[in-house]
Amino acid sequence: MSENICPCGHTQKNYVECCQPLHDGASWAQSPEQLMRSRYSAFVQQKIDYIVKTTAVGQQSQLDVVALKEWSCRTQWHHLEVLQYEIVKDKRHAYVEFKAYFMQGTQLQAHHEKSAFVCLDQQWYFLDPTVDLHYTMKQSCICGSNKKFKACCYSFLAI
Ligand SMILES: [Zn+2]
Ligand SMILES: [Zn+2]
Repeated sequence: MSENICPCGHTQKNYVECCQPLHDGASWAQSPEQLMRSRYSAFVQQKIDYIVKTTAVGQQSQLDVVALKEWSCRTQWHHLEVLQYEIVKDKRHAYVEFKAYFMQGTQLQAHHEKSAFVCLDQQWYFLDPTVDLHYTMKQSCICGSNKKFKACCYSFLAI
C-alpha cells in the first residue's frame, strides 16, 4: 500500500484527492460517514483546525485545541474501520459507529465509539459528547438550528 493513500480508508485515492480538499476547505463532507472519516484523517495529519470547524458550532469555543493537537501527535494511528452508520428519522441527525485503531507499543488497540452528528444547512457536524453542556433546555441548540436544545441535539448527547 502506498504511503500516499489517504489514511481515512474510504477510497484507494491519495490524500490529495481524498480528504485534503475537505481539510483545506475546498469542499465539505457529503455524508456523516465521510465527515467521520475526514476527521480521523485530520487527526492523523494533525489538522486540528478541521476538527474544530467540523464540531457543532456551539461547541467549538469549548474545545481544548492544545490538548487535541498533543493527543493527535502522541497517538500512533493505524487505520479506521466504520462499522455502520444510520441517518436518524428526523434526517438531521446521524450515528456513525467506528473503530479507530492505533498502536500502543507493539500492540494494536482499538477505540470503539458510536458518534452522533447533526446536519445544518446541508453540512454535517460532529456532536462532541465530552464537551460540558452548560445549557438550559430552553436555549437554542448548540448545532445552530433555531430549535430548542432539548428538542434538537440534547438526546444525542445525553448518555
Ligand atoms: Zn480520505
Ligand atoms: Zn441541535
